[in-house]
Amino acid sequence: MLKRTLHAFITAAKGLSLTLKHLFAARKAREELDIKQENYFEKQQGVTTIQYPKQEIPIPEIARYQLDVEIDDCIVCDLCAKACPVDCIDIEAIKATEVIGKTSDGSVKRLYAAKFDIDMAKCMYCGLCTVVCPTECITMTDNYDRSFAKLSDLVYEFSEMSEAEIEEKRAALARSQAEKEAAKRK
Ligand code: SF4
Ligand code: SF4
Repeated sequence: MLKRTLHAFITAAKGLSLTLKHLFAARKAREELDIKQENYFEKQQGVTTIQYPKQEIPIPEIARYQLDVEIDDCIVCDLCAKACPVDCIDIEAIKATEVIGKTSDGSVKRLYAAKFDIDMAKCMYCGLCTVVCPTECITMTDNYDRSFAKLSDLVYEFSEMSEAEIEEKRAALARSQAEKEAAKRK
C-alpha cells in the first residue's frame, strides 16, 4: 500500500515537473530568425508559433509565392499556360491586325491578351511558367499572405482590356480576314 502510494506521488511529481518546465518555457516567444542564419532549423525553446501578423518570420529571397504578370511585357505566346501542369493559367489571345508595340526587352507584340487569368487556388507553385516565359514578365513575388473567404477570389485577372476593346479588336480581325479572303478570290 505504502509502496503504491509512493509510486503515485513520484509519477505525479514527474508529470507536474514536465508541465511546469513547458509552462515556464512558454513565457518565451519564438524569435524572428533570418533563414540565412545557421541555426534557423535548430529547435527553438519556448512557444514555437509567432504572433502573426504583428510578428513575421523573414522569408527566403528566392521564394515561390503569389504570381504576378507584367501584362505590358507579355507577348501572349501562351507558353506559360502550356507549361503549367495543373492548367491554372487561362489565356485568350486576339491576333492584332498590325504590330501593337514592343515589350521592355524589345520583343514585338502582335497579340492582345483578351483574357489572362491565373487560378492561384490550383497553382502548385512549381515555377515552370516563370521559367518558360520568353520576356520574363510572369514572376513569383514574396506575397504569401492571401486569405479569402471565397475560392473564386483566388482567380487573378491580369488582362487590362475592357469588353468594348475586346469586341472592337475581334471585329477588326474579322474585317481584316474577310478582306484577305476577298482579295484571294479576285
Ligand atoms: S507555378 Fe506552376 S502550377 Fe503555378 S501557374 Fe505556374 S506553372 Fe502553373
Ligand atoms: S509565357 Fe510570358 S509572354 Fe508568354 S503568355 Fe505567358 S506571361 Fe505572356
